[in-house]
Amino acid sequence: MIYLDNAATTPVRREVLEAMWPFLTGDFGNPSSHHALGDAAARSLASARAQLAEWFGARPAEVTFTSGGTEAINLAIKGIALGQPRGRHIVTTPIEHEATLESIDFLRRVHGFEVSTVPVDAVGRVDLDALAGQVRSDTTLVSVMAANNEIGTVQDTAEIGELVHAAGSVLHVDAVQAAGWLDVSLDALGADAVSISGHKLGAPKGVGALAARSRLVIEPLLHGGGQERGRRSGTENVAAAVGLAAAARLSSAGRAEASGRVAALRDDLIARVEAAVPIARLTGSREHRLPSIASFLFPGTSGEGVLLGLEERGVVSSSGSACAAGSDEPSPVLLALGVDPVDAQTAVRFSLSTATSAADVEAAASAAAEAVRALTQLR
Ligand code: PLP
Repeated sequence: MIYLDNAATTPVRREVLEAMWPFLTGDFGNPSSHHALGDAAARSLASARAQLAEWFGARPAEVTFTSGGTEAINLAIKGIALGQPRGRHIVTTPIEHEATLESIDFLRRVHGFEVSTVPVDAVGRVDLDALAGQVRSDTTLVSVMAANNEIGTVQDTAEIGELVHAAGSVLHVDAVQAAGWLDVSLDALGADAVSISGHKLGAPKGVGALAARSRLVIEPLLHGGGQERGRRSGTENVAAAVGLAAAARLSSAGRAEASGRVAALRDDLIARVEAAVPIARLTGSREHRLPSIASFLFPGTSGEGVLLGLEERGVVSSSGSACAAGSDEPSPVLLALGVDPVDAQTAVRFSLSTATSAADVEAAASAAAEAVRALTQLR
């Protein structure tokens, strides 16, 4: 099997599992317990937090471990919006992950927030002039993703951060897809808060983190024993936190080399698909693109049919959007780019990892060509 669905999830890296193992077995203490086992767990948690803090260019107290990207994003958006007295206005984009869009919609429905959605261009880049025009004196929060999960387009969040800060507001960046490929430190992203998820970078599912400047008042989502300095109650998942820190450490050690190598494979895949499948249309930006994502439309086919054809030929990929596969609803991300709703149903996303080889890319491009040919010949 050639696994090209790494934007959906990745396998746990061996080194990560090895780092976690002691905390699932012998060193199983509760960090809040006042005995040697508890103290050892507390020290390991503190060390994991310090490592992640370094990754984020933040202070350890600014890192909150969560149950994943979705929870980190919920905590950032609801926590910051409800914690700040500035106002009840939020700015976002139409291509955000559901975790962002639904958190913001909750604030609109239940807390009466007003929401402004900044348009994106045909490749999914945020319109900076429009953004500057939308941020107001009562804008509590702006939330923009660093890189899109369906099309791989990367935003200039540093520039967005400058605009947002000039207007006195706060920027949250969903860096779930960017982590491991781009510098996701608060400063590099121009952000006051950054969310990440473990399972996109070789840590297990169900762990993530929010880095948020300590000057921000964050209303917690989970109330209880006051762990994570009151930002997130609940006995800490020490093993998962240690695993996330290990994954972050591993990914940052080889990031520049890995990004360059995988970007070259991605470009090779794009070139091969474009050459072998004349109807293929790349979605997203060629220039501002994650190293790991190559996404296409195959107008005149069905995305689901192409995915099945690929899988029959041993290549696992995705439509890029959980709700687009097998449903009648075209992807809202592609619609926001101005893609025709019928064409939007033909989307296929290949997402690479550091384990992807040149032979995988060659095989995937041939499989895509065969799958599309088989579907178009049926007509
Ligand atoms: N944000 C983006 C851009 C994502 O791609 C995902 C997952 O696909 C999430 C947030 C949610 O992360 P998690 O699966 O850890 O809840």
